[in-house]
Amino acid sequence: MPMKSYKFLLIVGDGMGDRPIPELNFKTPLEYAVTPNLDSLAKRGITGIMDVIKPGIPPGSAPAHLALLSYDPYASYTGRGAFEALGLNIKLERGDVAFRCNFATVDEELKIMDRRAGRSIPEADVLASSLNKISIDVDPPVKIIFKHSVEHRGVLILRGSNLSPKISDIDPGREGEKILWAKPLIDDYSAYRTAKILNEFVRRAHEILEDHPANKARSNKGLPPANFILCRGAGTLPQLKSFTEKFGLKGICIAGITLIKGVARTIGFEAPLIEGATGGLDTDVYAKAKAALKYMESYDFIFIHVKGTDTASHDGLIESKVKMIEKIDGMVGRILDFKNVNNLCIAVTADHATPISIRDHTGDPVPLLIHAPGILSDDVCMFSEKACMKGGLGRIRGLNLIPILLNYAGVMHKFGE
Ligand code: ZN
Ligand code: ZN
Repeated sequence: MPMKSYKFLLIVGDGMGDRPIPELNFKTPLEYAVTPNLDSLAKRGITGIMDVIKPGIPPGSAPAHLALLSYDPYASYTGRGAFEALGLNIKLERGDVAFRCNFATVDEELKIMDRRAGRSIPEADVLASSLNKISIDVDPPVKIIFKHSVEHRGVLILRGSNLSPKISDIDPGREGEKILWAKPLIDDYSAYRTAKILNEFVRRAHEILEDHPANKARSNKGLPPANFILCRGAGTLPQLKSFTEKFGLKGICIAGITLIKGVARTIGFEAPLIEGATGGLDTDVYAKAKAALKYMESYDFIFIHVKGTDTASHDGLIESKVKMIEKIDGMVGRILDFKNVNNLCIAVTADHATPISIRDHTGDPVPLLIHAPGILSDDVCMFSEKACMKGGLGRIRGLNLIPILLNYAGVMHKFGE
């Protein structure tokens, strides 16, 4: 078995897939970008297109990554809040319900003036610690844990018995609208109780934040006060077999954003802090390449996530998306400068398309390339949506990716005798 000598490298450009763009002469950003390293891998390897969840289903990033890493998204995706919490290194207990939160600015009628309270909130940690003092008088008791992450973002955990994630969001998702009160989504005591607790937390948090000296100071400086906590994406911790248990491989995730780190941790990957990996357009891809090379010494499966392609797409920034793709290409080039391609099984793909013309995720298939030692290559010489349509992998599902990749390293178990 040659397995010991191989390392696996999965590179995901978030929302990298796209559609033709008039400003790029009707090319996609992947077609337009200069990507010698990805094209060379496509030429020597095998390509195809992939429906990450199912044909025509626009994937959210978390379920998409679960699928890419071989976990059935319909069985393993239990709401975004839990993955965000794990991404922040909060230990979740069974039964905890976690929410993604924003510090926001609301007026006296609880109408949302700024969903991000100005985005830059240096006082956020002080504000967060005041929220952890909230206690809600219910029986059985519930513990409130609120943690700030970056900018305006945070996570709320409700810990106790008889809690349910089946409740609606507080966050209407739009400015100029009033906040929503949480409602049970199923006719169940736990859901009713959780909605009541969440509403009470939000009400009390608003009282505390409204009177907080840090917010008074913000208002005096003409900044929007962070006077409300918008909660959404209630979720619980999924109980999943680890990637190591499934495949005997030790995995590590190199990512800047908490959601993806959380997904990776859920399946037992390490997800260390990578200095310079910001999750933004300014992310240092060479820092990621360096980390990948370092961790290849002691881990089998290296998963690198780059968020910038998706961010640029949501913001409609054509040039930035092209640049991000070129940065990903540079990152791949840097890794291959130091690591012999013959010792690697590499897959490069996206978790979904985020066409700039749509500014949101779509259900288009994404391009995929696989390069592995001894692989029978196809005739595709370029890594792009259109070129990969002609590839030898044909059209596969996200769940097929890991078995196909591992097969080339000879580490998949034989079916039958
Ligand atoms: Zn995504
Ligand atoms: Zn996105």
